Amino acid sequence: MTAKHPMRPSTLVIMGKTYAVTYHAKSCDVDPDGASSMFGHTDVREKSIRIHDCADPVERFDSLLHEVLHVVSWEMRGVLDLDENHHDLARLAATLADTLIRNGMVTP
Ligand SMILES: [Zn+2]
Repeated sequence: MTAKHPMRPSTLVIMGKTYAVTYHAKSCDVDPDGASSMFGHTDVREKSIRIHDCADPVERFDSLLHEVLHVVSWEMRGVLDLDENHHDLARLAATLADTLIRNGMVTP
C-alpha cells in the first residue's frame, strides 16, 4: 500500500484546509507529547493529523475518519459540537468507515 492509496492519504483537504497526515508504527508515538498511547491525534492549529499505522487497514481508516470528525467539529464549533460526546463521534466514524468499505467506495 502506497502513501497515495485513498485509505492512507498523506494529506487531506477538510473544509477547504489542507492537513498533513503522518503514520506512526507505535501508538505511543501518535501522541506528540509521548504521554499516552492513542490511535489518532489532531492538531487543528498546526493542521496535522497523526495516525497509528496499525496492521488492520480498516481500523486505520476508522481512526482517520475519527480525526476528520474532530476537525469538522472544531471548524463547526458552536453549530455541530461532535466533541461534546466523544462516544458518539467514535461511533459515527466507525459507522462511516464500515459503510464506505462495505459499499466499495474505498478498498482496504
Ligand atoms: Zn477522538
